Amino acid sequence: MRLSYTSISTYETCPLKWRFQYEERLPTAPSPALSFGDSLHRALYRFHNRPVPVAPPLGDLLEMLDEEWVSGGYRDEGEELSYLEHGRQVLTTYHRDNAPAFRVPAALEHRFTIQVDGVELTGVLDRMDRIPGGGYEILDYKTNRRLPPQSAIDRDLQLTLYYLAAGEVWGIEPERLTMYYLLPAQRMTTVRTPGDADAVRRRVATVAERIAAGKFEPRPNPLCDWCEFQAHCPLYRHKVDRDQGDSAPGMSEIVDEFVDLKRRGREVYRRIDELSSLINAFCDEHGYLRLYASDGSAIERRAQHVTAPDEAEVRRILEPLGLLDRVLAVDPKRLSDLIESRQLRPDVEDALLASREEVRTQYGLFLKDPQRARR
Ligand code: SF4
Repeated sequence: MRLSYTSISTYETCPLKWRFQYEERLPTAPSPALSFGDSLHRALYRFHNRPVPVAPPLGDLLEMLDEEWVSGGYRDEGEELSYLEHGRQVLTTYHRDNAPAFRVPAALEHRFTIQVDGVELTGVLDRMDRIPGGGYEILDYKTNRRLPPQSAIDRDLQLTLYYLAAGEVWGIEPERLTMYYLLPAQRMTTVRTPGDADAVRRRVATVAERIAAGKFEPRPNPLCDWCEFQAHCPLYRHKVDRDQGDSAPGMSEIVDEFVDLKRRGREVYRRIDELSSLINAFCDEHGYLRLYASDGSAIERRAQHVTAPDEAEVRRILEPLGLLDRVLAVDPKRLSDLIESRQLRPDVEDALLASREEVRTQYGLFLKDPQRARR
C-alpha cells in the first residue's frame, strides 16, 4: 500500500473522503487556494534552486511567480488578479526576510519514498537547510492565513513524517523542523525525537490496517462544509438530490413536518422553563405545595435533591482501604460522547468501540437549523 502525508491526514479526518479521493478517484475541481499555494511553491523552488549562496533580486522572484502562476480554479479574472497581487506582496516580504541570509539548500523539493511497516510512504520535502554551526532544518511552506497554536506544530504529523524520512533517506536527525507561514511571514519551529518517529510509524500502520480492512465510515468534521464530495456523502446527498429535483416529495413533507414539530417542541420547553421559574417563585413566597388549574388539575411541587459526592474526599477515605475500585466505573454516556467527539485517532476509536461488551446502534434525530449549524 502506498500512502502520503496528505492521504493519511485525509483518512484520519474522514475515512469516507479518503475512499472517494484515493480509491474511487472521483474528480475534484481546482480551487483558488490550491492554485495559489502551488504557484508560491513553484516560485520559491526556483528562487532557492541556485548553486551559489546569492539570492536572486526581488524582480527576478516576482518574474518567477508570473511564469509559474497556476491559473486554474479562480472564479473570474478579477479574483485571479487579486490573488496574483497578493502573491507578489507575500513574495516581496519573503525576499526582504530571506535574501540577506540566503544559503544554498541541502535539499529542495525532494521526493522520497520510504518503507514504514510494509507501507510505501511517499512525500515531497519543500526544503532542508544546513544550520550554521551544524545540523539540519527541514522547512515546509504553508499558505494558511492564520497561525496554528504552537501545540499543533509540536504534534504535527507532516513534520514528524519528514523527520522520519530524513532519517531513512539521509541517515540524519534534523535539529529543527519549521512550518513557514508565508502569508503572515512567520516561522513556527519545533523538534522531534526518535520516540516521535516510532509513534508515527504505528500511526501509519494503523491507517493502513484500517484501509485494508475496508473501514470507510463518514466522519462529520468542521471541514465538511468545504468537502468536494458532498454529492456522494450520506450527510449531504439528500440535500443535493432535493436541489436537483425532489425524487421523494412525500418524504420531504414528512421531514418538513418533523422539523416544524421539533421547533415548536423547543419553543414549548423554553416556555415551560420560564413558567416554572414564575411558579416556583410564587410557591416560595406563599408557601404553596400545589397550584390548581382552572380544570381542577394541579401542579405539585416536590423537592428533588441533587447530590454530588466530593470526589477528593471519597478518594481520601476509600483509597487507603483499597475500596476505591468498588465505586469507580466507566460512564457509558461519557465514553460514547468521547468516541463521538471525533477527537480520537481512528485506532483509539476502534479499540474503545471493541472494548464495549455490547455495541448497539441507535439513531437519534437531531434538528440542525441552517443558521445554527450548516452541517
Ligand atoms: S462531507 Fe464530511 S463526512 Fe462527508 S465525505 Fe466529506 S468530509 Fe466526510
